[in-house]
Amino acid sequence: MLLLLRVNGQSMRMDMEQAVDKVLSIGSYQYRPAHIARKTRKLATQMWGDQIAPVILDQRFYFEAFDNYRATSSWGDSGNFTPANGASVALGHWDEDATVGIALHELAHEMHLRNGGYDHSSDVIREALALMAEREAGLSRRFDREPYYTASNLVAELSELRHFRRMSFKQRWDELVVLMTDTELSDVVNYYLDRSEGLGFDRWLRRYTDRPAVREALLSVMANCSLRYSLDYRRALVRGVARCHLLTPFEQLVKAFDALMTLDSRYPDDDLERMINFCFAPLARSRRGPLAFG
Ligand SMILES: [Zn+2]
Repeated sequence: MLLLLRVNGQSMRMDMEQAVDKVLSIGSYQYRPAHIARKTRKLATQMWGDQIAPVILDQRFYFEAFDNYRATSSWGDSGNFTPANGASVALGHWDEDATVGIALHELAHEMHLRNGGYDHSSDVIREALALMAEREAGLSRRFDREPYYTASNLVAELSELRHFRRMSFKQRWDELVVLMTDTELSDVVNYYLDRSEGLGFDRWLRRYTDRPAVREALLSVMANCSLRYSLDYRRALVRGVARCHLLTPFEQLVKAFDALMTLDSRYPDDDLERMINFCFAPLARSRRGPLAFG
């Protein structure tokens, strides 16, 4: 694995795995290049197996260190990936372990590119894959700007769900790498929430309709509505829908989702769970017999 040392406008190449006993001081951190390279290679191999071909780590990925390093509050400068040039990670921003996490983040972009689908996927999907990869190295970050905000929230939610968490990294990766949009990712969260907690939504949906197009449409509306929900609000929504009368017309369900999204955008400070009940409770199976719609 290569480390480029940028000194006085020149760049020196260091084979990190051969740099045994070397320690570099950059910014406020100390780095052992051989240790970082070993750990990055080991984790990447555990995560992607044979797919992480030697050519990737040797020719499409490098670390770099600048002699004119200045501490900056921006984490964004630490890692970089372009489909044309591959991935790089600058030392000086994070400690050793977190630097390995950043390396796996950037390698995930490369693996996504090689997998196919990178060009057509949204930024949220690209970052979600990368953030799931850095979590494997123990780095878990929160962000306040997009697309990282939505991506990190959805990945954090997935990692809390038993049925998703217990799968191998490869299985989780395969599940997400085929996605294109943030709505599809939100749907995956709803799916694993329902399975992990036995909310009964999947069963309800199968009884509600046997038409795949209708199911897809409903799942998509629900995923879009819950895109920025916490797990608690997702749970309330999924439960609320699964309580709806099986004879509720599709249009009526869509209207309830629309009403909920309108209320939520109009009254962002109000209790969302109450709004969910307000929109879906009237559609619930009634104990008092036949339901009147309207
Ligand atoms: Zn990224």
